[in-house]
Amino acid sequence: MNTIIQHDVVIVGGGMVGLSLALALSKSGLVIALIDPQGKSHPVQAFQSRMQGTEFDARVSALTPASQQFLATLGVWESLSQLRVCAYTDMRVWDADGSGAIHFSADEIHVDCLGYIVENSLVSVVLAQALAGTGSVTLYQPDALLSFTRLTDAKGQLVTQITLASGQTLQSKLLIGADGANSRIRTEGGFATREWDYGQQALVTTVKTELPHQFTAWQRFMTTGPLAFLPLLQPGSTSQHYCSIVWSCIPELATELMALDDKAFAVRLERAFEARLGRIEAVAARHAFPLCQHHATNYVQAGIALVGDAAHVIHPLAGQGVNLGFADVMALAEIIQAAVARGEDFASLQVLSRYQRSRQSHNLGMMVVMEGFKRTFGSDNLALRWLRNTGLKIADQSAFLKQGLMKRAMGL
Ligand SMILES: Cc1cc2nc3c(=O)[nH]c(=O)nc-3n(C[C@H](O)[C@H](O)[C@H](O)COP(=O)(O)OP(=O)(O)OC[C@H]3O[C@@H](n4cnc5c(N)ncnc54)[C@H](O)[C@@H]3O)c2cc1C
Repeated sequence: MNTIIQHDVVIVGGGMVGLSLALALSKSGLVIALIDPQGKSHPVQAFQSRMQGTEFDARVSALTPASQQFLATLGVWESLSQLRVCAYTDMRVWDADGSGAIHFSADEIHVDCLGYIVENSLVSVVLAQALAGTGSVTLYQPDALLSFTRLTDAKGQLVTQITLASGQTLQSKLLIGADGANSRIRTEGGFATREWDYGQQALVTTVKTELPHQFTAWQRFMTTGPLAFLPLLQPGSTSQHYCSIVWSCIPELATELMALDDKAFAVRLERAFEARLGRIEAVAARHAFPLCQHHATNYVQAGIALVGDAAHVIHPLAGQGVNLGFADVMALAEIIQAAVARGEDFASLQVLSRYQRSRQSHNLGMMVVMEGFKRTFGSDNLALRWLRNTGLKIADQSAFLKQGLMKRAMGL
């Protein structure tokens, strides 16, 4: 007969959010497991040989100083920064359809930088390596959650029984869905969501530019969607000529852009970016992702919690997705550990609701702001065009407003 393996906490999903949660809980004394379809070996050396020199991961994230602090607390920031991280000091945002523009600078708020551009796979590598080093979390990798059921155990306690693709069966007091935008925990758990389908795609790639990026994150808003250039830095080099781009656009345009050869794509990109960084000299492989925004109306039930993209997916235009996910992890890990220290049932609805209360309104607020940006900048309406251009100019001239915006975007 199949033995049932007991755990206190089972985390489903080993993306940046799930891995960081497992690491944050690794010293809690709880019996923890993490399940992910990816293999266990994420050695840094393999990453380095894959990403030699100028080959960058197409998926990058702009991390806020608050997320950087969190990764430092987990003990992984040092390894990450020694590998490949680009701190950016400035941000320039402008409207393609007018004269409105805003410039944020680290100098204005007396900080070293506004944030950091990191490659997602590199963040996962350092987190996975640190997690393996703890030896205190059981890794079911490569494996996947197939289904789960809620049961009452012999002591009358609510537990979740989990069936894995490998055929193994686990039981856990707390099941955590860190399984991304299409979370099975969320759908099978019957968590309702509010969804906004953007009818947009994000096209991502790495480009080499003629002019240096000046450690600046650039974003041009067009009615078809925003185009961002995010600065990258090669290890051991001061060259400022590589940027990761995120071009959010309507599906017809995305299909057209994906079909172009590199030379023709470079010309289109240069034009769309008003050649602010001169000629686009080289383009790496392009990838397209469908964009949507959703938010779970509840993040918790007794014995279940959702974190990261499983709970909320936000438009990438403000680069907040994984930052919100890390903030979820910080809150949930702290609440679970405080409950354990007080001898409370950490998987109870009462305890988990503290996590929901601490995060949900903040995440929703950020999503509403992004939705507003997307609608305002996606409109051809003359009145809205005037409003956004005037709004950008006023904000740019008001040190107080700008400082407030910067601090909020930095998670401070
Ligand atoms: C184009 C683009 C640009 C972005 N830029 C930024 C940015 O600049 N800054 C920012 O903060 N955010 C950004 N984001 C958002 C960010 O990428 C996401 O918020 C983040 O990756 C979510 O991490 P996660 O760990 O929650 O989910 P995921 O990364 O999706 O990880 C989920 C994990 O769960 C696993 N999984 C799924 N189902 C199962 C199962 N049944 N069993 C076991 N495991 C399972 C998957 O294999 C995966 O490893 C961007 C997003 C896009 C699309």
